[in-house]
Amino acid sequence: MKRRNFIKNMGALGLASTVPGLSANNMSHGYALPKSTIKVEDGWDVIIVGGGPSGCTAAISAAREGAKTLLVEAMGQLGGMGTAGMIPAWCPFSDGEKIIYRGLAEKIFVESKKGVPHERKDRLDWVSINPEHLMTVYDCMVTQAGAKVLFFSRLASVEMKTKDTIDALIIANKSGLTAFRAKVYIDATGDGDLAAWAGATFKRGDENGVVQSSTLCFSFANVDTYNYINGPTLHGGNANSPIHSAVKSGKYPLIDAHFCNNLIGSDVVQFNAGHLVNVDSTDPWAVSEAMIKGRQIAGQYLDAMKDLQPKTFGGAFIVKTGSLLGVRDSRRIEGDYIFTVDDWLQRKSFDDEIGRNCYYIDVHKAGHKSTHYKKGESHGIPYRCLTPKGLKNVLTAGRCISTDEEAFGSLRVMPPCLVTGEAAGMAAQHAIVQSKNDVHKIDIQYLRKRLKEENQYFL
Ligand SMILES: Cc1cc2nc3c(=O)[nH]c(=O)nc-3n(C[C@H](O)[C@H](O)[C@H](O)COP(=O)(O)OP(=O)(O)OC[C@H]3O[C@@H](n4cnc5c(N)ncnc54)[C@H](O)[C@@H]3O)c2cc1C
Repeated sequence: MKRRNFIKNMGALGLASTVPGLSANNMSHGYALPKSTIKVEDGWDVIIVGGGPSGCTAAISAAREGAKTLLVEAMGQLGGMGTAGMIPAWCPFSDGEKIIYRGLAEKIFVESKKGVPHERKDRLDWVSINPEHLMTVYDCMVTQAGAKVLFFSRLASVEMKTKDTIDALIIANKSGLTAFRAKVYIDATGDGDLAAWAGATFKRGDENGVVQSSTLCFSFANVDTYNYINGPTLHGGNANSPIHSAVKSGKYPLIDAHFCNNLIGSDVVQFNAGHLVNVDSTDPWAVSEAMIKGRQIAGQYLDAMKDLQPKTFGGAFIVKTGSLLGVRDSRRIEGDYIFTVDDWLQRKSFDDEIGRNCYYIDVHKAGHKSTHYKKGESHGIPYRCLTPKGLKNVLTAGRCISTDEEAFGSLRVMPPCLVTGEAAGMAAQHAIVQSKNDVHKIDIQYLRKRLKEENQYFL
């Protein structure tokens, strides 16, 4: 009886298909919400959920294109994994010969470098990130473009007008629940929350649903900079790194040889190190456990470095761990096209491409071998990877776009995420002007023309 009432209530609220985590199969454990009316914030053209790299470029480009734009972010800062997640470096911006992530991506990269003056001016690859500086870069660029930012606000559910069209997003924050309405919505949540809750089909991980490992990044302060720079290479990719003897010793059972590190300022070294295996980032319990274990892992790396490199790390302490778990792999929302590893291997170009990518296939799973391009090589990123199948007024940007699991290993990193964000923001406004909010029907050659005018790179 209770279950029947619950389903009835959900239907009356129009919520049945959109409440996260509930489906017809697991409703027996549901809790019936009373029918209620909540306030509405109307009149937006474009709402982007998720203020990571892709959400920021989407917001800047939608606003620049003339859309009344709102960027909704769960944290109190922009930048996603690159700031709250404390990723210590940008993946390469060049194909080994020239910069290929241009447009807004290049502008953000140039501004970001001002926060790390110790880096060589002409360096394009693996440039370190000062997260406090980078978040102010995003603050400035997003607000100066005219987009509004709403912090500490989390997408809680999606209300559908019809099966293929979103009516409103339900956002939870300190004012309770509010319905936000726009003409077009962009999912830049990384995990694909918005599109999945609107009913899009998606894949997670490999054929068994196993995702790439996560990492909780962290930084040490009071490192001896001279010894850090002049001492042995610590990177786990180097066979002589002391990290290998630390792992072999068995004294620090939580650590492994994944040990990337960058000097982000005087005496401060930031680490992308260690692995948390197969964490489901859409399960808050799993993420909570991973955060706790991640902090223990950071502690063991510090102990190991103090023991093995006392001159460099003797006085060091953990100054910060990520406020966001470093999630590499989550939902990949199925679009009109699924970019595959064969496309990647063939260096394919597409009539509807919105930019290029050259990052290697970088999959964090035991035993996986990475595959690289030669200098000057790249592939196109089709617009159709940003348009979820079966949804009219929704676009995806960043790591939740439509790829297979292997190709995802290449497209998931920040430079291509910045590129897909810029294209999605532009396309959203074009859909409003050209095709009654239908993102599948925009003039793609016009989108490409506009991207070229904004200096995006094409062959
Ligand atoms: C450990 C690790 C190391 C990496 N190393 C590198 C590297 O060295 N260089 C590199 O370039 N890339 C690296 N990457 C990849 C890269 O950082 C991410 O894939 C990239 O940031 C994805 O961008 P995004 O915009 O799609 O999402 P994210 O950066 O994940 O941002 C998503 C944002 O959405 C917000 N959000 C999520 N859900 C909701 C919701 N329901 N409501 C409101 N807000 C929400 C989050 O708070 C977050 O701010 C690494 C990733 C990881 C995890």
